[in-house]
Amino acid sequence: MTTPPRPPEFDLDAAQSGLGDMGADDFRAHGHAVVDWIADYLEGVGERPVLAQVRPGQVRDGLPTSPPADPEPFADAMRDLDQVLLPGITHWNHPAFHAYFAITGSGPGILGEALAAAMNVNGMLWRTSPSATELEELVVDWLRQMLGLDTGFHGIITDSASMSTLLALAAARERTGLDVRQRGLAGRADVPLLRIYTSEHAHSSVEKAAITLGLGRDSVRTIATDDAYRMRVDALGEAIREDGRFGYRPLAIVPTVGTTSTTSIDPVTAIADLRDDLEEELGHPVWLHVDGAYGGMAAIVPELRHVLDGVDRADSFVTNPHKWLFTPIDCSTLFVREPEWLTRAFSLVPEYLVTDDRGVTDFMDWGVQLGRRFRSLKLWLVIRYFGTDGLAARIREHLAQARRVVDWVEQHADLELAAPAPFSTVCFRAVPTWFEPGGPGEEPDDAISDLNRAWLARINRTGDAYLSHTELDGRYVLRLALGNLRTTDERLDATLAVLDRELDALRRSRVPTEPSARA
Ligand SMILES: *Cc1c(COP(=O)(O)O)cnc(C)c1O
Repeated sequence: MTTPPRPPEFDLDAAQSGLGDMGADDFRAHGHAVVDWIADYLEGVGERPVLAQVRPGQVRDGLPTSPPADPEPFADAMRDLDQVLLPGITHWNHPAFHAYFAITGSGPGILGEALAAAMNVNGMLWRTSPSATELEELVVDWLRQMLGLDTGFHGIITDSASMSTLLALAAARERTGLDVRQRGLAGRADVPLLRIYTSEHAHSSVEKAAITLGLGRDSVRTIATDDAYRMRVDALGEAIREDGRFGYRPLAIVPTVGTTSTTSIDPVTAIADLRDDLEEELGHPVWLHVDGAYGGMAAIVPELRHVLDGVDRADSFVTNPHKWLFTPIDCSTLFVREPEWLTRAFSLVPEYLVTDDRGVTDFMDWGVQLGRRFRSLKLWLVIRYFGTDGLAARIREHLAQARRVVDWVEQHADLELAAPAPFSTVCFRAVPTWFEPGGPGEEPDDAISDLNRAWLARINRTGDAYLSHTELDGRYVLRLALGNLRTTDERLDATLAVLDRELDALRRSRVPTEPSARA
């Protein structure tokens, strides 16, 4: 079989005329309609059910199973967007979205996405769009200044904190000198057991990184936390010493500033002290990676700089503009002290990507992916549009709203706070005076957890608010996160009223009927 020397030939028919992209006039017309759609959507998003109320399969059932052979009017697709897709959207831009971490895809960020798509830049090399690379370098340096981090940090934008943490731990693995990049891990007698230490409240992305890097979940040792869900430094030291007796080598320690469940803040400075002692003792470096995906952003409020205390001693730090900096998903920033470990781990330049550009950054060398989106553009527009003072003011407002929720919980006879709330996320549960837990054989705490589960399900079914939950010390608790620019105090009060109303409905459904009324 010989390969044909030229592309195959076809009989070109009439359908070949009128090829090419959407014309400029059409683009203008549809583009204006789309911008109007977005403006209307953002203006009215608060009227929609925040959590999608569709059954599984409903969205697919509403759409043709095979693609159209012939062109369809753009307006037809927009109609399906309205009629079929929108009911299946959970509205993250909704003012009563309080699940997970509340976020905002802000106006300037949305426009930045559109502009980036228009230029369709692939920023793999500096020369494949110098502006993409240099704006990324510039804007992450802006963010570094906003967070009060020193000039020794160099940043890169990735799609997610999970990817940022994966890259950081890959750099840590490279720095061991075990040459895993070349030799891999399989079948090697000379590779010691490696450990990554993180708290029992750390994000699952640490374990996922260990899975991906071939270290395995067993390489992640989770450390107990104190009564405020912060990593216990004494327990960390004991775990490392104990592991040492079994031949483990500490690879990295990953404290969190703003854990996912309760937003607790691990004592990074004390952990860094311990790391320094350890390095001296062992004679090899131990990577310190700080996960501030959500909470780190609070440091742009000058009075809150201290939440990043100790980060100046980290090898790497991640925070997500797509969480608490109003940038449309996806956008995560990874800061590293020595980018060299990233490039040593990942740089692999095939001949067709070799350039003679000198003194430039080729971001493809810093990570897994070759092709890279122009993500810095939206972040740059967000920062320019709001200004650093404006961004700090907005974060302060979310903190004030969280205090409003804490006050509400504390003044409520049937509720209790489940954890300290250092940022804009509040964990609480119902322990109603009217509730008598425990049927025969049931643990009282399990019954209270079931009650809270039922309460949350009721709240989310209304479509008026969306909250999520977590488990703390075996107890099921609700989480209410603030971080959306459309959440006004009035709307928040209305949401709290929904919570009240649903708890009351639960009471009425539970309290046994009066004996007299039973007859
Ligand atoms: C949200 C979160 C992550 C994961 O972020 P992605 O960008 O979705 O990967 C990691 N760590 C913490 C502390 C988080 O809050």
